[in-house]
Amino acid sequence: MSSGTFYIHTFGCQMNVHDSEQMGQLLCDEGYVRVDEAAGADIIIINTCSVREKAAQKAYSELGRLKRFKRRNPDLIMGVAGCLAQELGNGFFRKAPYLDFVLGTHNLHRLARIVGSVRDRRSRVADTSFHQPVRSLGIRTLPSGGRISAFVTIMQGCNNFCSYCIVPYVRGREESRQSIDILDEIGFLAENGIREVTLLGQNVNSYGSGLSEGIDFPALLRMINGTEGIERIRFTTSHPKDLSDDLAACFAGLDKVCEHIHLPVQAGSDYVLKKMKRGYTVGEYLKKVGMVRDACPEISITSDIIVGFPGEKEHDFQKTIDLMEEVRFDNTFSFRYCDRSGTASEGYDEKVAEEIKRERLSLIQSLQERHTFEKNRTMEGRVEDVLVEGFSKGSSVDVTGRTRGNKIVNLTGDETLAGKTVRVKIVRAHMHSLRGEML
Ligand code: SF4
Repeated sequence: MSSGTFYIHTFGCQMNVHDSEQMGQLLCDEGYVRVDEAAGADIIIINTCSVREKAAQKAYSELGRLKRFKRRNPDLIMGVAGCLAQELGNGFFRKAPYLDFVLGTHNLHRLARIVGSVRDRRSRVADTSFHQPVRSLGIRTLPSGGRISAFVTIMQGCNNFCSYCIVPYVRGREESRQSIDILDEIGFLAENGIREVTLLGQNVNSYGSGLSEGIDFPALLRMINGTEGIERIRFTTSHPKDLSDDLAACFAGLDKVCEHIHLPVQAGSDYVLKKMKRGYTVGEYLKKVGMVRDACPEISITSDIIVGFPGEKEHDFQKTIDLMEEVRFDNTFSFRYCDRSGTASEGYDEKVAEEIKRERLSLIQSLQERHTFEKNRTMEGRVEDVLVEGFSKGSSVDVTGRTRGNKIVNLTGDETLAGKTVRVKIVRAHMHSLRGEML
């Protein structure tokens, strides 16, 4: 018998998406049923992100939108999870007094117990303590909706303390999972129809440090590459300073490791990179790009860029443009710098005016659109292996999938193709996707 229904709204990165999947699994195990609408749900959870101001603001406005359900139904259980929950803790109850629980990033495994105690005693709970090891990392989850691709967390937290970043404060220090647990989870996913895994961590390249088993990230990839049933392995995020020759060689030497790397550069000026405490220079970053391209010339490279970091002058910004012209990323995710509470850069002076940040962001994004489209155009006429995920959004005649380089391809097909890898000729390039024909 169903215990009730739950609705989870997720903001932020893939790590948060996976956390939401894990929370959903825990509630399903307790007999709750997932629903796609907040209206009428018995439990509503907002999984928040505080890495950027915009994501935090969106979470607040979603909470504001949903609080009417609590007014209408006092038995509704409403909670927040994720980085913003971790950051504010009990303080969230002052901002949103209608909340029943605040769940920190290390405490997802306690969700069912917290929901139970709220339901039975109707008392509010804030649980944001840090734990070592992080037990929630091992919550085994099958993605919903018959998906063929799954996330697997291999480590979480970060020891780098980039000056602008709140992650080490809200996710804690770096912690890697034992390789045996990761392999066990991936084996379980493969047995249940998953064909592609994306390994998650704030800095997967430093996987294994702190573990006694002596297995680093390339060694872990080699082990996962042997898992029967898994066709593709992806991972994110890679810190450039920890990208080794050995890892670059994995793109060429391991057949299941897909030819795509997300390698955040953040800025093209050494002065700004130093203030960001990124731990590399532009020259060193370019060497790493050369290293992966030497190992695997066809590799797709994507990146993150922040514009308007405190002290970024026009000539610093120009260097970011120069770097983009030199590397020609397949895609970038670019953002305006904003202060995050408690970070080092919050105290930096020479803040850049919002108007200038907006102008710089617009320039970066137009340049990237040009590069992305040019890159996509070079793929016309090529034949690619496409792992089909299912119907394209809103279509019953087109299916969608991805190339090994992580480009989206739409082609004519039906649901029998889902989960299959097909040979596809790319016939037309668009800005955000490719059109293909199955051979
Ligand atoms: S490497 Fe830097 S930007 Fe990335 S999570 Fe760690 S502190 Fe944040």
